[in-house]
Amino acid sequence: MNKGTRAALAAILLGSCVAALAEIAPAEFDDEGNGRNWLTYGRTHSEQRFSPLSQISADNIGELGLAWSVELPNARQLVATTLAVDGVLYVTSSFSVVTAIDARTHQVLWRFDPKVPEHAGDTLRVLWGSSRGVAYWNGKIFVAAGDGRLIAVDAATGKEQWSAMTVEPGSYYYVTGAPRAFNGKVVIGNGGTEMGPTRGYVTAYDTETGQQLWRFWVVPGNPADGFEDNAMKMAAATWNGEWWKHGGGGNVWNAITYDPDYNHIYLGTGNGSPWNQKIRSPGGGDNLFLCSIVALDADTGRYKWHYQTVPGETWDFNSAMDIVSVDFKVHEREVKALMHAPKNGFFYIINRANGKLLSARPFAKVTWATEVDMKSGKPIEVQGSRYEDGHVRIWPGPLGAHNWQPMSWNPGTGLMYFPYHDLPGDYDDTGIRHAEFTHHDFQFEAGVAYGGEDADPSLATSGLMAWDPLTQSAVWKIPNPGLWHGGTMTTAGNLVFQGLGDGRFVAYRADNGEEVWSFNARHGVSAPPITYELDGQQFIALPVGWGGGMAMLGGSLGAQHGWPYGMHPRRLLVFALGGKAALPDTLPAIQVTPIDDPAFVVDADRAAAGKDMWSKTCSWCHGPGAVAGGGAPDLRASAAMLDLDSLSSIALDGARVARGMPRFSDMTKNDMLNLQHFVRQQARAGLTR
Ligand code: CA
Repeated sequence: MNKGTRAALAAILLGSCVAALAEIAPAEFDDEGNGRNWLTYGRTHSEQRFSPLSQISADNIGELGLAWSVELPNARQLVATTLAVDGVLYVTSSFSVVTAIDARTHQVLWRFDPKVPEHAGDTLRVLWGSSRGVAYWNGKIFVAAGDGRLIAVDAATGKEQWSAMTVEPGSYYYVTGAPRAFNGKVVIGNGGTEMGPTRGYVTAYDTETGQQLWRFWVVPGNPADGFEDNAMKMAAATWNGEWWKHGGGGNVWNAITYDPDYNHIYLGTGNGSPWNQKIRSPGGGDNLFLCSIVALDADTGRYKWHYQTVPGETWDFNSAMDIVSVDFKVHEREVKALMHAPKNGFFYIINRANGKLLSARPFAKVTWATEVDMKSGKPIEVQGSRYEDGHVRIWPGPLGAHNWQPMSWNPGTGLMYFPYHDLPGDYDDTGIRHAEFTHHDFQFEAGVAYGGEDADPSLATSGLMAWDPLTQSAVWKIPNPGLWHGGTMTTAGNLVFQGLGDGRFVAYRADNGEEVWSFNARHGVSAPPITYELDGQQFIALPVGWGGGMAMLGGSLGAQHGWPYGMHPRRLLVFALGGKAALPDTLPAIQVTPIDDPAFVVDADRAAAGKDMWSKTCSWCHGPGAVAGGGAPDLRASAAMLDLDSLSSIALDGARVARGMPRFSDMTKNDMLNLQHFVRQQARAGLTR
């Protein structure tokens, strides 16, 4: 009896008459051979993002066309993985708004808006509005709202079932990650490392009641308060000074992988708070469990093992990038492995039974370390990389050689596909008094300069990597234009799909990287595609809407593709063989033209004060140097910026909170004036560039 029959029979035996959604057997979450659904962030619990569907293949892909599309008004940044559950697509957009779409009729079934800007309070200053997706379990969709709520809604109706607050309300903790659900539990972490003294943790809730089941802290708190568990006691021995005053960091903002083989969950942990270890933990130390994969017992949240990719991190090299579970053959011996390509530029293979390092090799330009020592499992650092001798330019920089954009594993080719970046960081803490460093809530402070000014886009390159873990080398690489492209999906049709920042959606042969198909979506793609089967036909779905870090912090690097805030429609595109639908009208890519008031006389002192405030606060969304990457308005072109009253009503009084612009009640009219002088200065510079 197949699973579908069994589920149907179970429904009859139980006398169930609610047939809106078929039951999804828990085993389907681990069934790599069943491609009908996309049930969780990485399709199945393994997070491989591999689909066994092969109706669309490298041989017939020329017939792939747009089958249908749905407009997503006000969706802004689309970075999330869509779920496909029994004929319904769940699309997550900015501020954690979820749209359920009937994949047969293409009608919106329901839309759930958790009203994040209204709930967020001061958290609105930091939460970015991005949301990487939802989880499904037992007829419920779990929505991680940016302000920290975890909300269960009925998958059939979109009605709220329960809501649990996972962070301190109004704090600098926020949530952009997708929850993961398994065995009646749903787990979520948080972000916030840079915006205040945060201490990362993950929490598990009961999927049916929303009751908290366990919480795991990533870094130790003040020993005087006692440790939550032995893992924290062990971790505290690797810290120095009064780290708890700085929070420590370690926020699990993205990767969480469930492993049914060992009943583990694996956390990809964040960087230090602040970045500069000399401040956070003077005298050094590994600073567990920063920048690690930490394995927990999925039932209890108890520590099982860890592998740290960056001991004593000091560069924002977090290990929050996805963690893929692969049963992998090495010399005829099957190894249950984890694969991980974090910011620091090394590709890691780790035994998921015990956390032992099996192999690590650089996949991009890496100058902070020469190699990973297989005996100790630790990187061999290059002298000077810790900016101990002043300014140092190292690869990669804080953007990482690979970021959150998901990678996919194809068991047929034995290759891992992921987008990589090549952009250095300029680290320098000269003049910073380590002992006197204090955080200011909701202000971006790393404790080190890192080259966060607006960057020349020609400095950065990027591409799509096909990596062979067996030889730890690239089998093929495709250069991509500029920076910031979507994550990948791979299929048994010998295909790899990737959406690009310039708006192209491209398919490559998985074995040799030959480009075999492309579609101009006419808007930057930041989300990964998914595939599913419905009534015997294979479909590929792609949310289109520029977003994520480059859209917020990217400045010119983000603006280069030409998707300024609010100009281009957001939509879900669905492709099938023989699809002949037309893409609705869209503006071409454009660049913002700053506006000027020739009568405005820029005061250099005010502009300098404005720049300082801008860098710590406004640039988080409106971009370094006042160049917006597209996730928020470019204020050099804003009329409100020319008028002090308009500016004050928006920034001080909160006139646009409902649209996502926070209220800065701690700023003054004088601050507004300083900001105005800085932005006018930047607008003029932009006009003469
Ligand atoms: Ca970070």
